[in-house]
Formats: sequence, C-alpha cells, structure tokens
Amino acid sequence: MTPRTALTIAGSDSGGGAGIQADLRTFFANGVHGLVALTAVTVQNSLGVQGFTEIPAEVVCAQIKAVASDMGVDAAKTGMLATAEIIRSVAKTLDELGLDFPLVVDPVAASMTGHALLREDALEAIRTELFPRATLITPNLDEVRLLTGVSVVDPASQRTAADALLEFGSRWVLVKGGHMTGTEDCVDLLSDGREYLELTGPRYLTENTHGGGDTLASAITASLAKGTSVPDAVAAGKKFIERCVAESYSLGAGVGPVSPFWVLDR
Ligand code: PLP
Repeated sequence: MTPRTALTIAGSDSGGGAGIQADLRTFFANGVHGLVALTAVTVQNSLGVQGFTEIPAEVVCAQIKAVASDMGVDAAKTGMLATAEIIRSVAKTLDELGLDFPLVVDPVAASMTGHALLREDALEAIRTELFPRATLITPNLDEVRLLTGVSVVDPASQRTAADALLEFGSRWVLVKGGHMTGTEDCVDLLSDGREYLELTGPRYLTENTHGGGDTLASAITASLAKGTSVPDAVAAGKKFIERCVAESYSLGAGVGPVSPFWVLDR
C-alpha cells in the first residue's frame, strides 16, 4: 500500500543527528514516505556547527515543486531555512501550490551549541512570511525570546508567549517547555488562542538531545500527514520524542543524538 507523504524543507547535518537526517528517519518510523527540499549543507559534529552553505533559493523551490507536482504532499515541515531569500521563495512556492496540506514551521534559529543556523535578517522573514501560512509553529524557549522578547519562566509567561506568537498568524502554537528550569516535568503548551492544552511528560536527565526539536516537529508532521488532528498529532509526537530522548546515546565528544532505534524492536 502506498504510504502518505511528508515533505521536509530543511538543512543537512553531517553528524546525522538533526536536520533532514532526523526528519527522514522520524517520517519512516512513523509510517510516512519522506520527501526532501534541501536548504543548506551544514558542516558539523557533536561539538557543534562549523559552518554552512545554503542551496540557491530557486533550487530549493524546484525541489518542492518537483515532488509536489508528481508525488503529492500530505503534510510539510520547515526546519533550517538559512536565509531570508529562501524563506520568501518557499512562502511564494507554497502559495503557488495552493498550500492545501498542513504546514509545521519549526523556527530554527541556532543550534543548542549556540551556532547560528539563520542569516541575520531571516528571523523576521520567518515571522512575517511563514507563520501566517503555518498550521502549527514549534519554537523552543530561546526561539520564543528571539521572536517575541518574552522570557518564559513559568506557566503564566508560557501562556503570554503563546498569545504573542499567535499574533503572527499561525493556527496553532506549541511553546516547548523542555528548556525551562525549575520544573520536574517537561510541560509544553499547545494553543490556538481558544484552547490552552498543557502536555506534561517526564524530563530525562541526559545531555544527548541533539536533534530533539527536529524529531518532535517531524513526528507531528507525520501524524498530520495521516490526517490526525493537531492536538492528537502533538500528543503522539511528544510520546515519540520522549522515548527518543530516553534512549539517546553518546557519539563523539560533545552532544549525542536522540535515538529512534527503539522503533526497530516494536
Ligand atoms: N543542524 C541542522 C541542519 C538543524 O536543522 C538543526 C536543528 O533544527 C540543528 C543542527 C541543531 O540541532 P540541535 O539544536 O538539536 O543541536
């Protein structure tokens, strides 16, 4: 039987832990066929990102059009988009395609080791060009601060941040609480401005969380591709990433990746 398709518009991680590598294996593990529009090639290992080269915007868009026109896209996600020009071109291409599928925008700005994955003027383009077209945006707390100026420290400020982010025009926002300190659990807040759903899960004590944000966003995208509602897709994605974090491993001298290997034993 032909599986549903999910498209990732994102960068490559030479270390194989994040980026399209994480997206494709997460799509596979969640039963959907992965399609790729590559935006950038990063040079990185467990110690960090040493640099990146972006793909020309017209080549990024040509990849999207090629797969959408022939194979069809049931859901898409964006990850590292590198430049404002790529972001604007992707937005235009999605409009040309009619954007009749769910779009998850993970506003990737920097790696957890602090290396920029976006050129400077690009964050504004994500906010104005992609958020209004997004079904769901999935910022972490650093990205929330960059995008809204709100520092999330507790449930009240997490709700303030969700409201501020929804002003940019996405249908739903998931304010991920994974980087919040002082809480025993990991509480994410999902909202469409009417509902405020707190998703609580265990916090695992591991340094090896490379690729965690990508893996969560692509697991959610896979569920959306299968027709699941946003709240159910986010709940399923959170369960998936929890297991991947619980089974993460060391590789190299720095930060190891979250692991999807457990799906092989299912
Ligand atoms: N490299 C690429 C290509 C990415 O897309 C991302 C995150 O989206 C990262 C690196 C950073 O991953 P992390 O913050 O989990 O280290």
